This record gives sequence, structure tokens and C-alpha cells, in this order.
Amino acid sequence: MQITKHKVAAIHYTLTDNQGNVLDSSSGRDPLHYIHGMGNLIPGMEEGLEGKAKGDKFNLKVSPEKGYGVKSDDLMQQVPRSAFGTQQVEVGMQFQTNQGQVLTVTKVGLDSITVDANHPLAGVELNFAVEVMEIRNATEEELAHGHVHGPGGHHH
Ligand code: ZN
Repeated sequence: MQITKHKVAAIHYTLTDNQGNVLDSSSGRDPLHYIHGMGNLIPGMEEGLEGKAKGDKFNLKVSPEKGYGVKSDDLMQQVPRSAFGTQQVEVGMQFQTNQGQVLTVTKVGLDSITVDANHPLAGVELNFAVEVMEIRNATEEELAHGHVHGPGGHHH
């Protein structure tokens, strides 16, 4: 069986940047389960996995355009310091908005704070080492929900 549209694949992966820093890895955890062809993963990753079989090991380079996007200056904004109340704010701190967007503090001024709403990995070239652990057909229910159920997926 190969990874094609609507197959559930389980993969182990390690993500490094071009300097060799490990940014994320499934090592020591359960493999990542996802439904292929439904936008569960970044586009470059799904393209690289297309047609792969169980046991395949490969390296994949993903451009920002097919990863977490290019950095946009429009997503940098200044907010009044009072928006943070009495909270101590430092450069590098991250906040999540009610919409699930992650904001990173890039500058702390006397009365204003600059936050960056770009994804922390926007503009970063991604290097994945991938191993395909398992492939199976997605169930009707999984396709209706758009996510994997059972081990490695949603339990509900
Ligand atoms: Zn579900």
C-alpha cells in the first residue's frame, strides 16, 4: 500500500533548520498519524509523502512557501502596553489569541509592545527526516471529521 489520497499514514519525523538545530521531532513519542490529501500537514510534507510505502525512509527539504509561509511585515503590530495589564512582558514571549494565532513579542517599549503574528517557522527552510511506519485506509467517519481516530488520533 502506498500513501495516496484518504490513506491514514503514521510517520516518524525529525525537523531541523539549515543550521542543524532540531525544531521538532516525534522521536520518543507515538508516530504522527494524519489523513493524506486533506490539508492535515503542510503542503511540502504531503507532496513528499505522496506515493511512499511503509518502511520508506527519506529526507525532505521544504521551502517556506510550502511550509509555514513567508514572513510578512503586515503581521507585525504595535499594541499598547496596557493591553497586557500588569503582566511582565519580555522579548521572545509567546501568547495565543482567542483565534488560536500565536503572537511573539519582538520589542518591548516604554508604552508599546511589538508583536509578530507570523508563524514562528515562517520564512524558515525546513529539513525533515521521515520514516513511514504504517499506512491504512481512512474510515468513513474519519473522512467526515477530517482527522484520525483511535491510536495517535482523536478519542471521542
Ligand atoms: Zn472525529
